[in-house]
Amino acid sequence: LIRVEHLYKSFGDTDVLKDINLTLNRNEVTAIIGPSGTGKSTLLRCLDYLTVPTRGKVTIENDTVDAESYTKADVAALRKHSAMVFQSYNLFKNKTALGNVMEPLVTVQRMPKAQAEERALKYLDVVGMTERKDFYPSKLSGGQQQRVGIARALAVEPNVLLLDEPTSALDPQLVGEVLATIRKLADMGMTMVLVTHEIHFAHDVADRIIFMDGGVVAADGTPAEVIDGRGNERLNEFLSFVN
Ligand code: ATP
Ligand code: MG
Repeated sequence: LIRVEHLYKSFGDTDVLKDINLTLNRNEVTAIIGPSGTGKSTLLRCLDYLTVPTRGKVTIENDTVDAESYTKADVAALRKHSAMVFQSYNLFKNKTALGNVMEPLVTVQRMPKAQAEERALKYLDVVGMTERKDFYPSKLSGGQQQRVGIARALAVEPNVLLLDEPTSALDPQLVGEVLATIRKLADMGMTMVLVTHEIHFAHDVADRIIFMDGGVVAADGTPAEVIDGRGNERLNEFLSFVN
């Protein structure tokens, strides 16, 4: 479903991604773990060109974008396949939960309002927020806001959901409900790429773990291989910190 070939990203003199090569499968959950500053977010953002790579190719479905020669139309085609869930769910404060989920459908997809509402209600139900659909973000907990953020991303019906530390801004007691939502999506067969520091959750929910370190993929395999296997010294060091 997703292919990354010889991907590089530098910010000025800082080489953040160094020759990343990956193929990610449909209906799988891939968790990206690793120390702070190793390029996890940068890699995720390169998948939808929120960050433009310095070199290399990103393919989702049959749409390839080559960093060294691409058009706006190529990027638009790539972006149609994915939706991003951010750490800070940045909902519109002046819109209700329902309004927030409808927003990209109405403004980006130009969907008629009635149809957008129907679609939004469907995904608010998936994340368990139907009863609070008319609440404004200020009246929702962080966990509820993030579930609305997830519904907003799901509502465009992407082939792949990209999640960048979706629980790290939450109070500890609110993390569980968001992880439960992500688990439910995994059980529904949603293809997801999840950057997370929740190693136990990653172990349970992911089909595949990618350990990034210093801008490269330092380990890649099943949770059993990567997390239980502990083949690599840097990985052991990292796991001993987070566990
Ligand atoms: P964390 O776990 O803290 O979120 P990360 O693995 O997601 O870390 P990135 O956010 O991808 O790390 O950042 C990797 C490196 O790239 C860091 O050194 C960071 O300072 C740098 N970087 C990221 N975005 C930019 C930017 N827009 N301009 C300059 N440097 C950047
Ligand atoms: Mg990050």
